[in-house]
Amino acid sequence: MLLKTILNTVEKHKSFVYSDARWSKQMPDREIEFDVQPRKNAKPICSGCGRKRPGYDRLVSRRFEFVPLWAIPVFLVYALRRVNCPQCGIIVERVPWASGKNQQTNSYRMFLATWAKRISWQEVATVFGTSWDSVFRAVRWVVEWGIAHQDLTNITSIGIDEIQYRRGHKYLTLVYQLDEGAKRLLYVARDRTEASLNGFFNILSESTIDGIQFACTDMLPAYLKVLKARASQALNILDRFHIMKKFGEAIDKVRAEEARQMKEDGYEELLKNSRWCLLKRRENLTKKQTVKLRELLKYNLRSVKAHLMREDFNRFWPCPLAIRARPEHGPASFCVSGVCERTVRRSNR
Ligand SMILES: [Zn+2]
Repeated sequence: MLLKTILNTVEKHKSFVYSDARWSKQMPDREIEFDVQPRKNAKPICSGCGRKRPGYDRLVSRRFEFVPLWAIPVFLVYALRRVNCPQCGIIVERVPWASGKNQQTNSYRMFLATWAKRISWQEVATVFGTSWDSVFRAVRWVVEWGIAHQDLTNITSIGIDEIQYRRGHKYLTLVYQLDEGAKRLLYVARDRTEASLNGFFNILSESTIDGIQFACTDMLPAYLKVLKARASQALNILDRFHIMKKFGEAIDKVRAEEARQMKEDGYEELLKNSRWCLLKRRENLTKKQTVKLRELLKYNLRSVKAHLMREDFNRFWPCPLAIRARPEHGPASFCVSGVCERTVRRSNR
């Protein structure tokens, strides 16, 4: 089988033909080149307006890097035509295997970007004998293509989260679609400000925004504010981790204040070494902490009360009534009844 046959199978463009493969003259590097010629009577396409236009002249041959074969670099060699376009003037033609002035073929960029999903960009560059920069450009091209062709309709559930990158307080805002069968990253923005999240809503149509029923977030005020302003119909679901973290912080604050007060008032320092036995879930306590907690429960301390409230609230999560929460029940972050409502009200104090 000829190499040309293989190329025609994987990369066929109907207005162009390949000549046989040959070794590149650019020795000593071993490289394969294919000459590309336009098919007779096939008019070039204007890169400005995308229409077929009469040819004007031809530029000198250029090499477009293709996917390597047996670890041997492969190039398509083609002399671009210029067209005489009544609309765009004398302008270079558009070719189907590459875009713009890029010297990598689209197939090669797809190839690099696919590997870049699995191993580091530097590794990809090293393994395929190219630069980090060209891997970066390949990934950017694929991502831009993806964004341009993204379908942003029929989104009913979103998740908004921030992640820290690099050291220091550098954050990104990430928005995911969380629908059954359609879980994907939709949007990335710098920082975790109102502007970051507003950027996401700006790319959506009004009807898509209206269709959002659930938004899962942490308790970042900037996110909550934007959600209220842009998608107030969505039920805001606060995740368990962040809520329980707030409980932990509150318990810690109450305990520290109370311990200081007791010391000032000259009482026995009951709360000494009690931090973890109040903060940890009961099932995670060590034997020593369990004894300490049992001891503390005998006293009417604010810290103990705070701890009990948290334990009480924990019953919210497995409650079947909570699962039935729906947007039509109102704009509240929690739609609860029965046991849960009592728990929430009491803990709010
Ligand atoms: Zn044109």
